[in-house]
Amino acid sequence: MDTPLAPLPENPWEWSEPQWRKIVGRARAGRSLRPASWPGGARCAVTLSFDADHETIPLRDGDQSPMRISQGQYGSRQGVPRIRALLARHDIRASFFYPAVSALLHPEEVRGVADEGHEIGIHSWIHEANTKLPPGVERDLTLRAADTLEKISGQRPVGIRTASWDFSVDTLSIIREMGLLYDSSLMADDDAYELLDDGEPTGIVELPPEWIRDDAVYFNMLRFAALRPYTPPSAVEEIFQAEFEGAYSEGGLFLLTMHPHVIGHRSRIALLDRLIQTMKAHPDVWFATHAEVAAWCRDNASG
Ligand SMILES: [Zn+2]
Repeated sequence: MDTPLAPLPENPWEWSEPQWRKIVGRARAGRSLRPASWPGGARCAVTLSFDADHETIPLRDGDQSPMRISQGQYGSRQGVPRIRALLARHDIRASFFYPAVSALLHPEEVRGVADEGHEIGIHSWIHEANTKLPPGVERDLTLRAADTLEKISGQRPVGIRTASWDFSVDTLSIIREMGLLYDSSLMADDDAYELLDDGEPTGIVELPPEWIRDDAVYFNMLRFAALRPYTPPSAVEEIFQAEFEGAYSEGGLFLLTMHPHVIGHRSRIALLDRLIQTMKAHPDVWFATHAEVAAWCRDNASG
């Protein structure tokens, strides 16, 4: 049992050692779940995810602007159809993380994606930031989101990616209560690892994402701020490919996070096509959903 600690002082330099140790002990990386081998003797695993946020980004901000909402709708009208066609052409199954509100706005899309063999994962209610919610609200929204996705897709989600990777101090206990297989929000490794809850092994697999392997950071644009990256697709392709080459040479995991309203544009879907072609040109690459990778790592960890 935990010994109750004194109230946390406002200034971090006044925290006691038990206090800062408890803080870093939450959702801590435990043993590596990098497997000794991948299915079929593959050399590395590639798992592609698409966070289908669509209209929930402006809605989350309380922004009713039809312009921003239309940018989200683009993800459903153009992004997802292009992504589905590309994945079908390459015969790859991927993971689609849906905020419940996005799934409710686009139920036919969710059903179609699920029917094509892709995974449907939890991604908040309305893309809310968990660390800003009042106590208890995150649990309620996450449970309702899982039920909503199951009802629409026919699949009970086994994995979660917190919106904006905003994993709160309560998230791990909610995941444990729900009995999920994996989370994909935390970044302590390149390969899968087991989450520890205050030092206790949980059996929950973490599939780490990173902003390096996220399309949004390179392409997003803030209208009223001096943020106008519009990185050339070729530069992003170079970064993603270097991350893949590293995973391939180490025999590890390459996990890529994308957004239909970002990667789905004509100039960018072509980079994903070229990247997939490059990866497929390497012998022995296993393409799988996050759920398949998590289950394999859980059952075949070398450590
Ligand atoms: Zn998202």
